[in-house]
Amino acid sequence: MKLEKLEPKNLWKNFEHICTIPHPSHHEEALSNWLHQQAKSLGLESKRDLFGNVIVRKPASPGRERRPGIIMQAHIDMVGQAVPGSTHNFARDPIIPRFHPDNQEWLSATGTTLGADNGIGAAAMLCYMEDTSLEHGPMEFLFTTNEEDGMTGAASISSTSLQGKYLLNLDGEEIDEFTIGCGGTVRSSAVLHLSDSNVDSSYRWAKVRVEGLLGGHSGIDINRGRGHASQLLCRILEASLCDCRIATLNGGDTASAIPREAEVLAGVPEWDFDSWRQDLEAEARHIAGELDETDPGFNLSFTPCAAPLRALDVEESRILVDLIRSIPNGILAMETAIANTVRTSSNLGILKLTHEAPGATFLETMCLIRSTSDDEKLKVADEIEDVLFRAGATTKRPVTSPAWTPEPQSPLLATATTCYQNLFGKLPGIAATHAALECGMFRPLYPHWDMISLGPLIRNPHSPEEMVHIESVAMFWQLLQDLVRAL
Ligand SMILES: [Zn+2]
Repeated sequence: MKLEKLEPKNLWKNFEHICTIPHPSHHEEALSNWLHQQAKSLGLESKRDLFGNVIVRKPASPGRERRPGIIMQAHIDMVGQAVPGSTHNFARDPIIPRFHPDNQEWLSATGTTLGADNGIGAAAMLCYMEDTSLEHGPMEFLFTTNEEDGMTGAASISSTSLQGKYLLNLDGEEIDEFTIGCGGTVRSSAVLHLSDSNVDSSYRWAKVRVEGLLGGHSGIDINRGRGHASQLLCRILEASLCDCRIATLNGGDTASAIPREAEVLAGVPEWDFDSWRQDLEAEARHIAGELDETDPGFNLSFTPCAAPLRALDVEESRILVDLIRSIPNGILAMETAIANTVRTSSNLGILKLTHEAPGATFLETMCLIRSTSDDEKLKVADEIEDVLFRAGATTKRPVTSPAWTPEPQSPLLATATTCYQNLFGKLPGIAATHAALECGMFRPLYPHWDMISLGPLIRNPHSPEEMVHIESVAMFWQLLQDLVRAL
């Protein structure tokens, strides 16, 4: 397919070329090299670092030398996801764009992710590098690697690499919205040693499972009212006063995903078994009612099973459930200046109770805390660790990423808003995403930068259903030119 027939021609030509060079996360070398060579062949200053990041400089167009410097930034890696049964090798095979079979207004790929996230942004930057007719102040182009799997490219940029004042992050996915902030993250993990003992034959056992939930991304879907399987399972266990003993308890396997399933192997005295089951099922009916609209697939399954060899005693089982229930989880604060936007949240992404040897049962937890305020993020991590520490756990914070705190008074935002309004005759939306963006990584190094994130309309990124709205790319290009000219 020849994308050059689409407008703006150069941008689509560049995007089509990017599609021919495989560039999944951790395999960006070929694309990084090509960008570096392109810059040099255009006579521009270009540097490529050890991580594959490329920084290109282009002098101002005549008469604009004294304007503040503008940095355009896009990540050059993409998420490689293919339809089931596909033999596509993302490190070797090109992406084949095509019009969306159901709607020709959209461009998608053939059985794979398209990489419009963030290939359109990179293609727009190439246009700026190539085109000598555009008006602009001194420009820097920052192409980063491995955004999608840890933002390690952005994390390796030094505080002296760039000189501009305005940063335009072109990784946005909504044409009618500017992003002016993002959540920082901190992961907090804990291990708690618990003592188990032999079980006797007076107990009857069951596997109790919460399932059928939607789950989702703990940054993007946290405010959709979805059930958290581990917390719901503990709430269900708490609803019964029977003398319950817990042998195993597991929920979730990724810090950044809301757990869809959780399972406990637990038992109660034989004579209490039926009323225990009734208690649990009654609580599950309450929950099903609460989730009726937002997460209707919720289900509790109850399967009588054989006894384990050992389990926590009744008191310790109760303490365990209480402990999990008291870990701050879900939405913890909303933004005050931006409507309907979560500011702070926590997700108990991993919960694992494993029995390793007689007397050695371990509880492992991993929470992912997000906030557009770094102070608040650390305060929540402290609270979570306090709760676990008082129960005897040892805690750790393996990875953190900084927040990009919104500045609604930013001059860059004001200029971008005026440009948008003049072009499209309406006001753009202003958003802060609860997920992490590379802008957050830059913030501590360049506290004086005025930053904004924008892009064309992209749907279903990170899935083979990824598509970009063709006309929105032309709108994005027009907006970008007007904004750069106005700065
Ligand atoms: Zn992206």
